[in-house]
Amino acid sequence: MTNVRLNNFVVQELIPAALYQHRGDKAIECMDLRIVKALDLLRDNMRVLGVDNGFIVNNWHLGGTRQFSGLRTPASTDYSPSSQHTFGRAIDFITKTPIADIHRQIIDNPSVYTEITFIEIDIHWCHIDCRVNSDGSALTLWSPKRGVVSIEQYRAELMVK
Ligand SMILES: [Zn+2]
Repeated sequence: MTNVRLNNFVVQELIPAALYQHRGDKAIECMDLRIVKALDLLRDNMRVLGVDNGFIVNNWHLGGTRQFSGLRTPASTDYSPSSQHTFGRAIDFITKTPIADIHRQIIDNPSVYTEITFIEIDIHWCHIDCRVNSDGSALTLWSPKRGVVSIEQYRAELMVK
């Protein structure tokens, strides 16, 4: 990979196949490095905690079907012009680690994960992004079912998970 050093990921995991084939490792320039570095750090920290079961972002380069879980281009059926994925600022991953454990790690360590400003909750994968929240909040938790959920409310829910 160029001079962008990641401990846990290769560029293909963040970039769709066609764009990677066109640009190679330089395609990482299409991602916002804030969220990429936060992802890499999160994985490191989950390993330190002894609860690392891998993070699967894209796996097209290994023969899998996931290729739009980092940068999302109009070739994706899930493409939306206003999605943070469109701008390279969002990452979705799946993991065998309980999502509650991942969320707890981020929410309980805001000074470590300053670049993660938005988390989608009540879904079975982890979505993190580094948008600038229009209300000025440092971290927004958003549920497709419930809308914005306060950190205090969600922390209380995580206590019983
Ligand atoms: Zn997402």
